[in-house]
Amino acid sequence: MTAALEIRRLTAGYGAEPVLREVSLQVPDGQVVTLLGANGAGKTTLLRAVSGLLPTTGTVLLREQDLSDVPPEQRVRRGLAHVPEGRGVIAELTVEENLRLGGLWRHGRTALRERTDAEYQRFEPLARRRKALGHQLSGGERQMLALARALVAAPDVLLLDEPSLGLAPQVVHSIMQTLRDLCDSTGLTVLLAEQNAAGALSIADRGVVLHLGEVRSDGPAAQIAQDEALRHAYLGY
Ligand code: ATP
Repeated sequence: MTAALEIRRLTAGYGAEPVLREVSLQVPDGQVVTLLGANGAGKTTLLRAVSGLLPTTGTVLLREQDLSDVPPEQRVRRGLAHVPEGRGVIAELTVEENLRLGGLWRHGRTALRERTDAEYQRFEPLARRRKALGHQLSGGERQMLALARALVAAPDVLLLDEPSLGLAPQVVHSIMQTLRDLCDSTGLTVLLAEQNAAGALSIADRGVVLHLGEVRSDGPAAQIAQDEALRHAYLGY
């Protein structure tokens, strides 16, 4: 199976000392790969580097196209979307306004209307909250909005940072299931950073375990979930 996203020997950080060291991984077309590891392992850093938000060395390939010299907004145009940790919903804007921001780099006005309508159909609770402000939403609704906003750009590959953070278990379960269904029904490819390893592995095809900025394990999700030593050492369950 071809990789929708391939990362080769990626090194990145915030200063002189790199946080990620020569990380390589592949996200096969239409699959969910979950990026696991403790607090500070480098999951957020990796997603930010792939989006072009940090200086890096190494290579990021989106459908075999090298993104190294491509600025972040052009990466969105080429089909890469990023839902950041904390969701990035703008508290002072309405659901509708937040959703439209998702099309900023990718659509003309007519297409944008169609794309936002499609997301309201997919996420019906958002359609009922169109006029609500970001800060009036529950945590689960905010995560739904962040996901819908990324999907408005009709991405090929979605980078999703800790969607389960701070949410009740039933809400986490429903978000994970939504992701799985999205991939199965639309062919979307997802790189999902999660501290909730059990939840993420239950819907992922593959898992990659990071520790102190390096890959410790990379394999089928079921295999990682069954590896007790790995779970105890790096995944905290
Ligand atoms: P978490 O689940 O807590 O977000 P993570 O696996 O996503 O953890 P990162 O946020 O990528 O980990 O952090 C990796 C390392 O980079 C940590 O040592 C962290 O202190 C450092 N770091 C993160 N953001 C910055 C920043 N803006 N400036 C300097 N160092 C940072």
